[in-house]
Amino acid sequence: ASGRTPLMAGNWKMNCNHHEAVHLVQKLALGLADKKHDFGKVEVVVVPPFTDIRSVQTTVDGGQLQIRYGAQDISVHDDGAYTGEVSASMLAKLGCSYVVVGHSERREYHAEDDALVNAKAHKALAAGMTPIVCVGEGLEVRKAGEHVAYTVAQLDGSLAGFTAEQIASLVVAYEPVWAIGTGEVATPEDAQEVCAALRARVAESFGDDAAAGVRLLYGGSVKASNVAGIMAKPDVDGALVGGASLQADEFGGICRFY
Ligand code: PEP
Repeated sequence: ASGRTPLMAGNWKMNCNHHEAVHLVQKLALGLADKKHDFGKVEVVVVPPFTDIRSVQTTVDGGQLQIRYGAQDISVHDDGAYTGEVSASMLAKLGCSYVVVGHSERREYHAEDDALVNAKAHKALAAGMTPIVCVGEGLEVRKAGEHVAYTVAQLDGSLAGFTAEQIASLVVAYEPVWAIGTGEVATPEDAQEVCAALRARVAESFGDDAAAGVRLLYGGSVKASNVAGIMAKPDVDGALVGGASLQADEFGGICRFY
């Protein structure tokens, strides 16, 4: 919307070994070529598990594919004695363009708070990658009618310390937790309500240029059959897709929504 390039990002979560990853990326690329997908019109990103990234890199490079890729998480530390962590420079060296930070599954299962999410977003950007900063309310908050205030507060905490120019280049994903992996998709109006509030908050905190540039994605049970209605909304610039991104045809259909 409004001159911002739409972005479709497939978060594979903990699915696909590196052989399956190569197959999925190749199948996605072939399907998009068949559909005559215009990568300048809608950017396509896959976000595999860490163990697949090198294989995705060689598949993308070898086939000169226009698909971009990223990581599902990042360490706040640069290097050293942090068992199990993966650093920003390691991901950048593998050609990652994006890093998802603050996904609700990391917030819930790994107790990640806004301060940690913010620190991770800074690490990603400093290494030349674009953070995809996730926010979104749970069912109780939604039922209480506090979803806008809740997500705006998450946004404030997660975007602290960035310059207006940096904000303009970032991606924020609004993912209501009650709609993730449940088949319970938010209505286009629900997505627009929160995305409009997030953009207004960015304008208030960082200025109009930052608000005009930042890309806002919706995430939560997006499929090829429901993506067009969501994308028709003025403040929604793309989708973060979980389950449906594991099927090349379905994710290809989401990318080719126009
Ligand atoms: C997600 O976890 O980012 C997501 C949106 O999942 P799903 O599409 O499966 O609801």
